Amino acid sequence: MGYKAWFQCINQQCRERYPLNSIIYRCRTCGSLLEVQHDHNALICRGPGEWKKLFEDRYKSTEWPYGSGVWGKKEWVLPQVHNDNVVSLYEGGTNLLWAERFGRMVGLENLWIKLCGNSHSGSFKDLGMTVLVSNVKQMISEGAPIKAVACASTGDTSAALAVYCAAAGIQSIVLLPKGKISIAQLIQPIANGSLVLSLDTDFDGCMRVVQEITKDETIYLANSMNSLRVEGQKTVGIEIVQQFDWQPPDVIIIPGGNLGNVSALGSGLLMMRDINLINRLPRIVVAQAERANPLYRSYLKDFETFEPIQAQNTLASAIQIGNPVSVEKAIRTLKQFNGIVVDATEQELADAAALGDKAGMFNCPHTGVALAGMIKLVKAGIIDKAERVVVISTAHGLKFTDFKVRYHEGTLDFPCQYSNKPIELPPRVDAVMEALRENLLKGDK
Ligand SMILES: *Cc1c(COP(=O)(O)O)cnc(C)c1O
Ligand SMILES: [Zn+2]
Repeated sequence: MGYKAWFQCINQQCRERYPLNSIIYRCRTCGSLLEVQHDHNALICRGPGEWKKLFEDRYKSTEWPYGSGVWGKKEWVLPQVHNDNVVSLYEGGTNLLWAERFGRMVGLENLWIKLCGNSHSGSFKDLGMTVLVSNVKQMISEGAPIKAVACASTGDTSAALAVYCAAAGIQSIVLLPKGKISIAQLIQPIANGSLVLSLDTDFDGCMRVVQEITKDETIYLANSMNSLRVEGQKTVGIEIVQQFDWQPPDVIIIPGGNLGNVSALGSGLLMMRDINLINRLPRIVVAQAERANPLYRSYLKDFETFEPIQAQNTLASAIQIGNPVSVEKAIRTLKQFNGIVVDATEQELADAAALGDKAGMFNCPHTGVALAGMIKLVKAGIIDKAERVVVISTAHGLKFTDFKVRYHEGTLDFPCQYSNKPIELPPRVDAVMEALRENLLKGDK
């Protein structure tokens, strides 16, 4: 079929194009980031009803590679890659659940959580990495001199890169900020055979180094400034709409660090609008940790200026980023989606995550940031109780057990109002009965 895609410079004055098999991350003419563009005239030849039917027929099937939530939309993502070169671990197709009880607790009737962490490596990063690594495999098959794929990471990108490269038989290299990621995140690339380089700096420091070492074309860059990542991640918005029988929700809330994911979310939704699968757009809210909130600060000035900051330590370690690579794309997205940016303190994010857990979720701290931001917007009357709200949960809570342990032990440096401490007892029935009386039957006296 004649579907085509290419890299295109995001700078409106430039718009230079490059083929997808070139080793390139920024425009050679003007230095701006690139984005993947598709031939909409070809895509639009198939009507919206036909696209919907095709996507539905493939959804979660076992027909390689189309059962994947990403590759089920292959024509919209990376049409030119051969199916033999697709490196897929059946990513996407994650649960979108109605958080009824939690919604009621915070004043919403129609709150939904998109569990992107229920994925192979435990975060949404799988959606982008399957596309990037597949493109690398295709380039290698065409003779490109790529020896390894490298990324800087706050934890989840490296986990995803390592596992997709392992599945493809390609060497991966990960640069991690020493002591700033969770044990679960660190052990993933170790187990998957990555060359793990632990640098005594923060994410922004690792990002500077990886951009230097990937100037050598034999080491391919896998960070989200490489727009192939964004192409895969954009399926999350399409998938949410599909799961609602092709109706867009009213609001989508997403935690943001390097800001590739919000750009991806917007890009998928715009593509649906342009190919006439939807006729209105949801509002997009980006939530940042107060300790790493450069986008929020820019939002307060109507995006007239943007200043990178030095990110402070935050429990939301995957978004501890002061100089986000995709800020321009993110601001463009927010302007198109009537966007809002909110931030959350450490206590707010931890309490929101814990309150959600008490209502049957198991949130990572980044999802906590999004939930805390949502609670603020509901309280301020900016989100109405009847609106259909989707929170993108970006990683599985099991990757962040240390955060939860510290919260429930009460060893964080603020009061943890929902902490639930285990009671240690001798193994005797009377002692257990006494504990039950004290903790369950208190109100009966
Ligand atoms: C990467 C990541 C984010 C942030 O995504 P960006 O594209 O960097 O804004 C949020 N949550 C988790 C769990 C992540 O791994
Ligand atoms: Zn350019």
